[in-house]
Amino acid sequence: MKAAVLEAYNQPLVIRNVPDPEPGRHGAVVKVEANGICRSDWHAWCEHWPGFLTLPHVLGHEITGIVESVGPEVTKFKPGQRVVVPFSGGDGHCVWCQAGLPNLCDNPVVPGFRTWGGFAEYAAVDKADLNLVALPEEVGFVAGAGMGCRFMTAFHALTDRAPVRAGEWVVVYGCGGVGLSAVEIAHALGAQVIGVDIDDAKLELARQIGATAVVNSKAAGDPAEAILDLTGGGAHLSVDALGIAATCRDAIRSLRKRGRHVQIGMTTGEQGGDLPVPIDHIIGNEIQLSGSKGMPPGHYDAMLRMVASGKLDPGRLVSRTVPLEDAGGVLASMGSFDTVGFTVIDRF
Ligand SMILES: [Zn+2]
Ligand SMILES: [Zn+2]
Repeated sequence: MKAAVLEAYNQPLVIRNVPDPEPGRHGAVVKVEANGICRSDWHAWCEHWPGFLTLPHVLGHEITGIVESVGPEVTKFKPGQRVVVPFSGGDGHCVWCQAGLPNLCDNPVVPGFRTWGGFAEYAAVDKADLNLVALPEEVGFVAGAGMGCRFMTAFHALTDRAPVRAGEWVVVYGCGGVGLSAVEIAHALGAQVIGVDIDDAKLELARQIGATAVVNSKAAGDPAEAILDLTGGGAHLSVDALGIAATCRDAIRSLRKRGRHVQIGMTTGEQGGDLPVPIDHIIGNEIQLSGSKGMPPGHYDAMLRMVASGKLDPGRLVSRTVPLEDAGGVLASMGSFDTVGFTVIDRF
């Protein structure tokens, strides 16, 4: 099959033929119809997480497609079925999988990172009964690709880790793919949403998908002050969808007393996993801090119903589709943070 192969960090991906994947006894092979290009792919390509990948590697963890083949032990899926592949899969055996939280699995199944992913014509997914999710007919492959990572990550954060209540003020720092997903989802859940970014084009898209107000943090000077003003005392819930020191700190400082902060932006290589947080402010205002990682495949139902009924439309966030050959160029361009919305590979 054809794949875009990561052979060396920070170098163009190499388009070449690689062996077709096999499903394994409990696994499936998915014919990839669409695959989103995510900020995490860029992190991996830049080697922000040393030792994370073994090269050569095939990235791609926002897969939608059609089941091509299944192993003999797979009972819930068969060839021809439309599916989305969550990046946060599990082995089905550990205590976290047993508790229904494969996103926290001790031995995670993560196509695109731990195994080869969707920058290719086909991708293998282990423990398919647990780790595949049926994609409703109403949802197109390109629209659905973000549900493998960015869109579902935002949904899990805002419905499970820091649930949004109707009428609340929600502020989202960083209007990249996962941040815009959070804006759209928080709006659909009945919140009044404020998007914060340094890029007016991203803020404009945030407005189009439901933000009540937007703040350009470069122009605002202190964006947290602007949020306190706009909300009459601070947001109920803040989301840092970027993962740098400034956005994390300002997001927390944008909260009212007893506010909740949820962190979904991963740090870049510069921060190496650590961000300073305003601890005295957190104590003095009884702020709650949560992390959120992917979404358990078993929790997809509510999100898929909202998508199928049109209340949510991840397709609105897709700004561009590209052929596989262009995936490497898109990755290389992400260092300047000027891609707006989702870019999705849809030709293989
Ligand atoms: Zn597990
Ligand atoms: Zn991702």
